[in-house]
Amino acid sequence: MITIAAASVKTYLSKSKIQGFDYVINPYIGCPHKCVYCYAEYMRKFTGHPEEWGDFLDVKMCETPLKPAKLFRTRVMLSSVTDPYNPYEKQYEQTRKMLKQLEYCQAYVSILTKSALVLRDIDLLKKMPQAEVALSFSSTDERFRELAESGASGVAEKINALKTLHENGIRTAVMAAPLLPAISDWKAIIEATRPYTDRYGFDSLNMRPAYQKKVMAFIGMYYPDLLPLYADIYLKEETAYWTKLEQEITQYCQAQNIAAEVYFSRSKPFG
Ligand code: SF4
Repeated sequence: MITIAAASVKTYLSKSKIQGFDYVINPYIGCPHKCVYCYAEYMRKFTGHPEEWGDFLDVKMCETPLKPAKLFRTRVMLSSVTDPYNPYEKQYEQTRKMLKQLEYCQAYVSILTKSALVLRDIDLLKKMPQAEVALSFSSTDERFRELAESGASGVAEKINALKTLHENGIRTAVMAAPLLPAISDWKAIIEATRPYTDRYGFDSLNMRPAYQKKVMAFIGMYYPDLLPLYADIYLKEETAYWTKLEQEITQYCQAQNIAAEVYFSRSKPFG
C-alpha cells in the first residue's frame, strides 16, 4: 500500500551536479519502483515520511512555470532520484506537463527511466530534436527484474520501448546499471538492445553503508553462492573485479564499434 500526497515546492528545477547537465527535474519525491539497490533511498530522511522508501510518493506541486529564458538550450535531465515514469505518472502526468514546458523552452532533454510508460509521450519527444531517452537495465533476466526491481517494466517491455522510440526517430541510450557482480550479464544487455540503441553507459553497483545490509541480505537470500564474492568487493573493498570488468567492457565495445562509456566510480553524465 503506497501513501500518495501533494508536496508544494518553489521550483521543479535543481541545479545539476551530474556532469553534462545544467538542471535536473524530479517531478516526484519517492519512487514506487522500489529497486532493492536504490541509490536514492537517502532522500527519505529529508521527507519526514515514516514509510519505507518505495511506499510513499509525493507529487510535487509548483505554481511557477518553467522560464524559457532560463532554460533555452540548457541540458535538462529527468530524473536523478525518482523515475519520471513511475506507474502513478499515468494518472498525475507530472512528467508530461514538464515535457510540454521544456519543449516550449527549447531545452535539451534527457530522460532516464525503467518504464515503458515513456512511450505515452512519443508525440512530445518527436517535437524535441535533441531529446534522448535512456532505458536502464541491470539485467535481461526477468526473474532478477521481478526480485530486485518489482515496480519497473518487464525486460521485454523495456526492449520494445527502445525499439519503438528508435523507430520514431528519437535518440536512445541504454544505461546498463547498476551492474551487479556475477549477476548482470552486460553482453546480453548489449545483444538484446543493440539494434535500437545509439549509445551505452555502464555503471557498477555502488553500495552506500546505509543500504549495504539490505543488498547483502538480498544476495544471501537469492544468490547465496555469490556471498563470498560480494564480501570481497563490498566488505573488503577489493577493486580488482571492477578494474577487470571495465577493461573487458571497453575492449569489447571498441572492437564492436559501440559508442560506450564506463562510469565506474566516476560522476555519471546520466543515471
Ligand atoms: S527506478 Fe531509480 S530511483 Fe526508482 S527505486 Fe529504482 S533505482 Fe531508485
